[in-house]
Amino acid sequence: MTLLDRALCRPCIFCEIVNGNVPNKLIYKDDEIAAFEDINPAAEAHILIVPVAHIRNIKSLNSEHTSLLEKMRLKGVDLLQDRGYEPQSSKLGFHVPPFNTVDHLHLHVLGGEMKSKYRKLKYETGRMWYQDMSQLQKDLERQRKASQTSRL
Ligand SMILES: [Zn+2]
Ligand SMILES: [Zn+2]
Repeated sequence: MTLLDRALCRPCIFCEIVNGNVPNKLIYKDDEIAAFEDINPAAEAHILIVPVAHIRNIKSLNSEHTSLLEKMRLKGVDLLQDRGYEPQSSKLGFHVPPFNTVDHLHLHVLGGEMKSKYRKLKYETGRMWYQDMSQLQKDLERQRKASQTSRL
């Protein structure tokens, strides 16, 4: 939560969920990440994976977050597999600010058929408003390598 949000007493809905203040919502939680169903599913299966810490969005990420992202990815694939979806068919991605709805980083985990053409477009990778998890991971990895080289 930003200082401004705190000053305005504006609670973050995803922090509320992660902290267990919304009953019967969490489907998974550990020290670092939590998972819950999207309130407005765009596909047969639509889960959100969030960090427990209030990280605002993908623009706040740097190469120190690579292991956190990988953990989020693995949990997403895992939860879809529990629901009977093949790991290869799972779609994982993030909305790019300002197209994100809640400013608490959340990975969209989608499985099965999309519910409509519009929803399909909203979660289509390669669009300016949506970024694929693997692309984000590659970008951060590139950043990490670049910072290592500059330290030599
Ligand atoms: Zn939050
Ligand atoms: Zn989103």
